[in-house]
Amino acid sequence: MFERYGEPAGVREVPDPRPAGHGVVVRVEATGLCRSDWHGWMGHDPDITLPHVPGHELAGVVEAVGERVTGWRAGDRVTVPFVCACGTCPSCAAGDQQVCERQTQPGFHHWGSFAEYVALDHADVNLVAVPDDMDYATAAGLGCRFATAFRAVVQQGRVAAGEWVAVHGCGGVGLSAVMIAAACGARVVAVDVSPHALALARKFGAAECVDATGVTDTAVAVRELTGGGAHLSLDALGSPATCAASVDGLRRRGRHVQAGLLPSPDGTTPVPLARAIALELELLGSHGMAAHTYPAMLRMVRSGALRPDLLVTSTITLDAAPAALAAMGTAPGAGVTVIEPWGR
Ligand SMILES: [Zn+2]
Ligand SMILES: [Zn+2]
Repeated sequence: MFERYGEPAGVREVPDPRPAGHGVVVRVEATGLCRSDWHGWMGHDPDITLPHVPGHELAGVVEAVGERVTGWRAGDRVTVPFVCACGTCPSCAAGDQQVCERQTQPGFHHWGSFAEYVALDHADVNLVAVPDDMDYATAAGLGCRFATAFRAVVQQGRVAAGEWVAVHGCGGVGLSAVMIAAACGARVVAVDVSPHALALARKFGAAECVDATGVTDTAVAVRELTGGGAHLSLDALGSPATCAASVDGLRRRGRHVQAGLLPSPDGTTPVPLARAIALELELLGSHGMAAHTYPAMLRMVRSGALRPDLLVTSTITLDAAPAALAAMGTAPGAGVTVIEPWGR
């Protein structure tokens, strides 16, 4: 829990949450540490009120069920998209729960999963069953980084076999995107400033790697490696520089997908739109993934084509979470840290 933005968080005893009529309480078995949590702790997210408990990419066991929930019962192994949808607004009715008009995000709109228990809204709309053979640490990442990458590459990006895909930023979302694009038959160019991140990208299927510290312009490097530019390019980090480089590295009629968050004081980010006109580029956003579209992703995990388990590089206890949260700002690191609140 933190009581002031940017000041050290602490582990406290708080009352156990209770489920809403449409919701559940989940006993958290694993919860991922994400750069979005760091943004929230720093005060970059207007949805957060203090004091606050972060945590939005989780997996666990249903502990208590609201009286109106019909599809889930205590003991079920579950995960959840970080966007919990209402299930009834026009966007939800259209199947676009990831942009629900009345969404609630655990760890942002209400207390999250850096805790032993977390309450989740509209369980029948949002819960996803975790396959029996998947561990909780792996499942935790499905709700945020892995599903975000899957939607960005497959659903929004419409990746096709044989295409060149550039991924700018190889943290949790970026490495997931590399793996997913490669599994779909694309040739991937990974871009990052960290040799360790690039080594992981190569391990997960990147055909080419660009060390951004070693070139003057990463977009030029991507265009040279891909014979004129990527067909699909992602800014998986979220910065004005990586966003612009992603757009500038596209070929004619290419698609840019913005997956990394772009907080800024006035809510705007410069984008090279003149290039988008001249080359007929598509500029797309991507925001989580609706629970009902998880089966296509889970089938690829089940077949072994996707290995989200390989993305988890360390597990820590809740007591170590405050320091790890603070460290996300300066050293986001390569790979993914998962918190196990029950300390096994
Ligand atoms: Zn996240
Ligand atoms: Zn809705």
